[in-house]
Amino acid sequence: MDCLFCKIIDRKIPAQFVHEDEHAVAIQDINPQAPVHLLVIPRKHLVALSDAAAQDQMLLGHLLRIGAELARERGLEAQGFRTVINNGAGAGQTVFHLHVHVLGGRPFHWPPG
Ligand code: 5GP
Ligand code: ZN
Repeated sequence: MDCLFCKIIDRKIPAQFVHEDEHAVAIQDINPQAPVHLLVIPRKHLVALSDAAAQDQMLLGHLLRIGAELARERGLEAQGFRTVINNGAGAGQTVFHLHVHVLGGRPFHWPPG
């Protein structure tokens, strides 16, 4: 399958890994939008959040829990951090393999752009 994140998971394309487990990996974003910008990516190829089914419920929770753990490890809990899932091109999704952005280390505004 011609999927960038599947290739990264399979180590066919290099990335800075910050976490790996049975169900997910986390890498540093190549074009960081904050001092901390990680991507938590399921090993399973789901195109987007809207591609997830009932059987993926545990996996979705896992991605968020890992994201929070990585943020906590980086001391972001007190100042706050942001998790983002862009679903579909209209919402800014550019890589069509589900991923959770974890951003921190600067102030964030609401509503997001
Ligand atoms: P999306 O726009 O789909 O929500 O997020 C895709 C993210 O993947 C972007 O933040 C982009 O910078 C990141 N990205 C794109 N190509 C690569 C790559 O080859 N390596 C890494 N580490 N991140 C990438
Ligand atoms: Zn994929």
